[in-house]
Amino acid sequence: MKIKKGDTVEVVSGDDKGQRGTVHRVIVGRKVIRGHTPKGVRVVGTNPEKDRLVVSGVNMVKKHQRRTGDVKTQAGIIEREAPMRVSNVAFVCPHCQKATRLGYQVLESGERVRICKRCRQTVD
Ligand SMILES: [Zn+2]
Repeated sequence: MKIKKGDTVEVVSGDDKGQRGTVHRVIVGRKVIRGHTPKGVRVVGTNPEKDRLVVSGVNMVKKHQRRTGDVKTQAGIIEREAPMRVSNVAFVCPHCQKATRLGYQVLESGERVRICKRCRQTVD
């Protein structure tokens, strides 16, 4: 996946279209087979179509939090970010501030860095 934790992204489809936020968490999609092991699930590799991101302040959902034994746990309805599909967001370039696509460039050192396809600047 080209998007990393800490990147700024813009939502390009759905109810939150146009909103921007910082990537909190990257969830790599896994290919799983169910019912083949005692645990019931076997992970057999990655599935980029299922890659998801948690973006700050975007895709908020209300969750009903049950009161637990812990007094500190807030009961009732709490709002939190739900993971969203990577295909629904676009990377926002820190140089040109535009939603853009990312490319890769290999430096002389052999290191591979991400570049903005609009302004060609390195974003790593
Ligand atoms: Zn740019």
